Amino acid sequence: MDDAGHSAYSINYFPALEFLIESENIMSTITLENNFTKLENFGHSMSASSYLFCPPNEEQIKEAFTLAKKNDLTVTLRGTGLSYNDAALNGGGILLDMTSMNRILEWNPETGLVKAEPGVTLQQLWQHVLPDGWWPPVVSGTMMTTLGGCLGANIHGKNNFKAGTLGEHVVEFTAILPTGAQITCAPKKNGDLFYALISGLGLLGVFTSITIQMKKIYSGLIEVDAFPVHNLKEMLDALEQGAPENDYIVGWLDTTARGKGVGRGQIHAANYLPAGADPNPGKTQRLDYQHLPATLFLVIPKSILHHLMRPFVNNLGAWAINTAKYIASLRKHTFRQSFASFQFLLDYVPDWELSYGRDGLIQYQSFLPKETALETWTKMLNLSHQYGLPSYLGVTKRHRPDVFLISHALDGFSLALDFKVTRRNRQKLSQMLQEFDQIVLEAGGRFYFAKNSETTSETTLRFLGKDTIKRFKTLKKRTDPNNLLESDLYKRIFEK
Ligand SMILES: Cc1cc2nc3c(=O)[nH]c(=O)nc-3n(C[C@H](O)[C@H](O)[C@H](O)COP(=O)(O)OP(=O)(O)OC[C@H]3O[C@@H](n4cnc5c(N)ncnc54)[C@H](O)[C@@H]3O)c2cc1C
Repeated sequence: MDDAGHSAYSINYFPALEFLIESENIMSTITLENNFTKLENFGHSMSASSYLFCPPNEEQIKEAFTLAKKNDLTVTLRGTGLSYNDAALNGGGILLDMTSMNRILEWNPETGLVKAEPGVTLQQLWQHVLPDGWWPPVVSGTMMTTLGGCLGANIHGKNNFKAGTLGEHVVEFTAILPTGAQITCAPKKNGDLFYALISGLGLLGVFTSITIQMKKIYSGLIEVDAFPVHNLKEMLDALEQGAPENDYIVGWLDTTARGKGVGRGQIHAANYLPAGADPNPGKTQRLDYQHLPATLFLVIPKSILHHLMRPFVNNLGAWAINTAKYIASLRKHTFRQSFASFQFLLDYVPDWELSYGRDGLIQYQSFLPKETALETWTKMLNLSHQYGLPSYLGVTKRHRPDVFLISHALDGFSLALDFKVTRRNRQKLSQMLQEFDQIVLEAGGRFYFAKNSETTSETTLRFLGKDTIKRFKTLKKRTDPNNLLESDLYKRIFEK
């Protein structure tokens, strides 16, 4: 257990030192000329300018490290850049966009094992395996993320309580270290690096190939039970009681409700269909059956929807939409839905985040033990109303702990809250979110470094604990002795 009371894997400090070879003599074919580019986070609330490279192969990754060392620059890895914060930003340094390394290298439809490059997106992955009756075991709420980015953050899905994080399904990966060394890691081979590079936020090494086990399925449909809950207690009880019986469970929360209605919303509990339950799996597993429709009500192109949503993304509009959605959700019903529609609800409206306007949004996700969640989130939701800064979207999930080095999950629940950022509210919002951090820490909670934008190094120390940070830094000295791999997130949570 670390100081934060979180279970940690047993660590082997100094095996396999032979991979610490230097890459000084590699000839560089990439240069810093004309590559300085401004990039943003997913929420468009943070930005930074960097020297941008898209390495198509391992040699160019090594060259980028050589170039960085020569020019006294740092390197940050970026998948699709869909982290809500600065995890994939590097002001003034080099940014390696990994999306050109996007080949599926091997696929075995008998065993469900797939080997892929890190820039392969979840979309590419599910579209490759679904026609053969398999599905990625853990996915994010958008299919646009890359495998490398998902393992850098060690993502969870709506099935975290049952399937764990994506990292738990990785059989093996290869990586390049900033030293130029190439390593292969599996749970029992370089195990300390396996459990640290996965979750390591791209700060220890670069995934270059990933072998991962898919989940066998018997239909392209999933069965969903949708039912309302009238307050936060009912919501958390439903997640707690529903989790053991269902493959997936998620709550949508009306963040604008006050008083006795705080935390009201709707639960979606979903299950895989057993073999034989779908009369035509050949059809439902086809990609044309899974495609999300391009229009709303068969008329409005989805590509323009975010423009139409924009006038409603304010306190009054969010209240009206949340209230209408809650009223519409009062009918309990069961239905079958395609996997893509259930898993990637947020991809229904492309570029929806642009509807938040010029200054974007911040997502604040906190993870709390079962015992403190109700009281803590009630306090936080009430506080957001007192500040006059209600969240416009809230999502709850049920979790279980995992054994990766930088872990966000625990035996409890998470609540993700989206906040609109404006020039006028930015400072106040930041103050409120830092207040949230203290409330969450006092309640024994944890944070997720793919989401929150305000977490300070003091908060990180209290949340991860001294032992975990020491282990991380010891490993970093081994894999990255010159501290080449850094990001804006790294500087924010580990340095100041
Ligand atoms: C709409 C939406 C819904 C989401 N839903 C969920 C959800 O349900 N569950 C969840 O857990 N997260 C969720 N997220 C967060 C998202 O899954 C993570 O931020 C994920 O890391 C993004 O993947 P990416 O490819 O865009 O990576 P980036 O954001 O580009 O990078 C993420 C991290 O991975 C590192 N990295 C990138 N490539 C490599 C590599 N090759 N080797 C080593 N490290 C690398 C980066 O340095 C960075 O630290 C969601 C995000 C969005 C926008």
